[in-house]
Amino acid sequence: MVNPSSIASAQDAPFGRLKTALADVLLVQADAGDAHTDIAIKRSDRVGGGIVLTGENALQKAEHLIRTQRYQRPVVPDRGRYTGKNRVLASHSFDPVWIQRQRLLGLPAVLPDGGYVAEHDEPGLLSVLRRTADLGPDVVAPLFLAASWLERERLPRLVEAVTDAGVPIAVAFEHKKDPLAKKAAVYGLVALLQVPVPVLLLRCDTSSIGALAYGAVAAAVGTRSSLRHFYPVTDGGGPIRPPKPAAVVERLLSYVHLDKIDQTAQLDPDHPDWHCSCDWCNGRSLQSLASAPDPELAAFLHSIEVLFRIRTNILMAGDLTARREAWTEQCSAAQFNHMDIDNTRYNWEVPKHLAHWRERGKDPSDLSAPAKPR
Ligand SMILES: [Zn+2]
Repeated sequence: MVNPSSIASAQDAPFGRLKTALADVLLVQADAGDAHTDIAIKRSDRVGGGIVLTGENALQKAEHLIRTQRYQRPVVPDRGRYTGKNRVLASHSFDPVWIQRQRLLGLPAVLPDGGYVAEHDEPGLLSVLRRTADLGPDVVAPLFLAASWLERERLPRLVEAVTDAGVPIAVAFEHKKDPLAKKAAVYGLVALLQVPVPVLLLRCDTSSIGALAYGAVAAAVGTRSSLRHFYPVTDGGGPIRPPKPAAVVERLLSYVHLDKIDQTAQLDPDHPDWHCSCDWCNGRSLQSLASAPDPELAAFLHSIEVLFRIRTNILMAGDLTARREAWTEQCSAAQFNHMDIDNTRYNWEVPKHLAHWRERGKDPSDLSAPAKPR
């Protein structure tokens, strides 16, 4: 039986309430105004789950969810002002009403509507951290960063600034495809996770589980590709073309486009990679996702079940050391499973982050060390 006084003392510790409410939570990051939001919320409502609502309507949706629907899991409203062609930059002031409304909801982590921290914008980074510290211990610094902040040249400054500020941070990374495709980025993320402040990783994919294994307090997985990182602004103002729906293939520990799953599975339909026993698929082939009435929704419903399953497997390993070992082994096995696939016809590529996570896991150097140059 849990001793109420031990909960009270845990909550009195630095960032205690935030850490207690969000520990090891896999958040579902959904668009607050999307037709599928209510389904995403429903699927997030489980032990170890929670929701990140994204966009201008995020708080309105959060208020309805908590006050009317009595949703009990963690809710994080991400206004998303750091994205799109009209995005604001890091030095832009926070909206005090956005903060106050979160406090009235009693959220364990209050996330200001921060702007984009560009590659060279160190004054912006420092300004976000300073203003967050001034707001009090319930507020999480919004660090929506150019992915190059994780690389060797900028990482030490980022780690130093976050350490000095001593405030919890929520991070997401800008990239046109996969922010963790570079080895330096995986090493950089791991180093950032070693700073003794709570870190929430937003807008991520299967690497969200890796982050939990390396000490992130919580991590979010996007319901669709554009919520699994954020795009650089192009001349046209958005992503070059709408991303195709993708689903997690459990044995490959990665998202794969549905058309690629379908085409590749046709070569070897009985192969275990293409069959799923999750509650949604119930033994069906993953090929059925592409032919579902709404493939993007079907891909999400399957993927979230699989991700919670992977999360459970990793957390069950035990302490952080054991979790890291379990994650390294899973990444290693997934790499081999990828290599098993006949790549001659469909140009099958192994996602680079798997090798980087594996390498970080096998590397004896300190977890706060950046990647060694090649
Ligand atoms: Zn499934």
